[in-house]
Amino acid sequence: MKALVCVKRVIDYNVRIRVKSDKSGVETDNVKMSMNPFDEIAVEEAVRMKEKSEIKEIVILSIGTDKSQETIRSGLAMGGDRGILVKTEKEQLEPLTVGKIIKAVSDREKPDIIILGKQAIDDDCNQTGQIVATLLEFPQATFASELKKNDDNTLEVTREVDGGLETVKVNIPCVVTTDLRLNEPRYASLPNIMKAKQKKIDVLEIGSFGIDIKDRLQVLEVNEPPERKPGIKVDDVEALVNKLKNEAKVL
Ligand code: AMP
Repeated sequence: MKALVCVKRVIDYNVRIRVKSDKSGVETDNVKMSMNPFDEIAVEEAVRMKEKSEIKEIVILSIGTDKSQETIRSGLAMGGDRGILVKTEKEQLEPLTVGKIIKAVSDREKPDIIILGKQAIDDDCNQTGQIVATLLEFPQATFASELKKNDDNTLEVTREVDGGLETVKVNIPCVVTTDLRLNEPRYASLPNIMKAKQKKIDVLEIGSFGIDIKDRLQVLEVNEPPERKPGIKVDDVEALVNKLKNEAKVL
C-alpha cells in the first residue's frame, strides 16, 4: 500500500496568537511555525503501518509557500519516504482549493490511503479531508482514534463521535482523518533528521495544476477573544454553594 499524508505548516500550538493591528489576520512574522499537530499524528500512523509492513511508501504532501519544505522535512525525519510541495505565494488557501490540489496529486500518485489531520489548528476548518473524499469519490473515515488493516483490503477505523466510539469498515482506497487519541507522535532522532535531508522533495508550482485558486470567502475582520475574568478560590463547599446561589444564580 502507498500512503499520501497531508501536512500543513501552522503557527506552533505553544505560541500566543497576536492579532494584527489592522485586524486583517494574525501575526506570522518572527513567529514559530510547526507541523499541524493532527498531521504529526497522521505521519506517525503511516510510519507505524510501514513498520508493520502494511504500507510500502509514505509520500508527504504540503501545499504552501517555500517554507513548507521544512514541514515536509519534519515528516521525512519521522519516517516519510519522499515529499511533494505544491508551491504557492499565498499564505492561506481555502480548504476547497487545498482539496482540489490534493485530489490532483492523488490522481497522479494513486495512493491507497490518504491521511489528513481532522483539522488544522490555524483555521479550525475541519473540511479538507471530507472535501478530498468527496472529490475523489473515496470512502472516508474521519476522527480516527484506532486504525486496523484487514487482509481483505479494507480498513477498520474506530471513530470518536459524540455518543462514544463508532467502528466503520472502509474499502481501500480511502481517506482517513486523525483524532488526538490515535497515537502519540515520535520525536525524530538526530540521525533521522540528517537522513531526511537527503530525501527527495518534488516542488510543483500551483499554477501548473490549472486549478482555480480564487478565494470564495472574504475575511472581514479578525479580533482577539474577549478577556476572561480571573477565577477565585473559595475556602469551603459552603462558600461555593453560596456564590453559585447568590452571585452566579445558577442554583
Ligand atoms: P482543515 O480542513 O483546514 O481544518 O485541515 C484539515 C487537514 O487538511 C489538515 O490537518 C491537513 O492534514 C490538511 N491540510 C489542510 N491544509 C493543508 C495544506 N495547505 N497542505 C497540506 N495539507 C493541508
